[in-house]
Amino acid sequence: MTEDRQVVIIGSGPAGLTAAIYAARAQLNPLVIEGEPSSTSDQPGGQLMLTTEVENFPGFVQGIMGPELMGALREQAARFGTDYVTAKVSRVDLSARPFGLWVGDPDAAEPTYAARALIVATGAKSLMLGLPNEERLLGYGVSTCATCDGFFFRGHEIAVVGGGDSAIEEALFLTRFADKVFLIHRRGELRASKVMQQRAHDNPKVEFVWHSQVIDVHGDTKVSGIRLRNLETGDEFELGVTGLFVAIGHQPNTDLFKGQLDMEDSGYLRTVGSTTYTNVEGVFASGDVQDHRYRQAITAAGSGCAAAIDAERWLEDQAASGH
Ligand code: NAP
Repeated sequence: MTEDRQVVIIGSGPAGLTAAIYAARAQLNPLVIEGEPSSTSDQPGGQLMLTTEVENFPGFVQGIMGPELMGALREQAARFGTDYVTAKVSRVDLSARPFGLWVGDPDAAEPTYAARALIVATGAKSLMLGLPNEERLLGYGVSTCATCDGFFFRGHEIAVVGGGDSAIEEALFLTRFADKVFLIHRRGELRASKVMQQRAHDNPKVEFVWHSQVIDVHGDTKVSGIRLRNLETGDEFELGVTGLFVAIGHQPNTDLFKGQLDMEDSGYLRTVGSTTYTNVEGVFASGDVQDHRYRQAITAAGSGCAAAIDAERWLEDQAASGH
């Protein structure tokens, strides 16, 4: 049977949970469909669940661990009347209101939930290199999460791929465990912020491998080495690392909305002006799923707050006009 809800929020990162806090305090009794774990890089709570220390979320003088922050946001939203369901949405129908949301069988005749307003906060996920052995060895030396797996590389030599803030952050964190961290970048210049670059340069355990691309990962049951190609000379060479951390960016989780919500070519949802309105009236988008510029926990949280306020006002206008 279909359950009617005023506001459904898909996603449980900083955007989704902040939207839930605001919607719950507006007495809208929101339902958060929080996702379910399917891999180390995909779990409820979003990317902060894969982070160690968050030093730039305002209010925490000494910083806070990512999972602890997400746990607190979740409890805070629950305190004001947010309901949670640990599942993934398998299909949405945004062609008519209330919106239909399916959990489980996408071919079921009736949707699982009917939502008067919908807040999309599905975030973004880690990109992978696309090498044949990368997927097979994921969890066996290949990782997208230094926080989750760094401990296993105590005393090892390992590699991180990427040149952005994530790659530097992962590399620096991994120096706590590993003897040496090769930072492999396809260009000769990092994309990361200057302060992060400096920290990496200052760390004697970090060794840069410039203009290079990983072309294969070796290992039967666990990673035993990687093969690289120098993109300037074409020369190929081996590194005998036991771990490969992939930190090359993210992709928004928007497959569910293809053909229904306007999105950029890159898949990021389009919102109207400075609001969280999408092209479908009653559907609001917040956080990393629509922000490829800032992508910070605090901007995602701010955007979740905006989505809840937009949804609340829109529902009020609907009620006032007799809908
Ligand atoms: P990013 O800034 O998009 O960087 C991705 C990096 O991976 C780039 O250096 C890119 O190379 C490289 N790359 C992409 N595809 C590749 C491929 N197929 N093979 C090899 N290398 C590849 O992503 P991010 O580092 O995840 O950061 C995302 C955003 O979050 C940024 O705005 C960042 O500032 C922010 N962030 C901030 C912090 C912090 O402040 N503590 C921490 C993490 C992230 P090119 O440079 O050649 O394009």
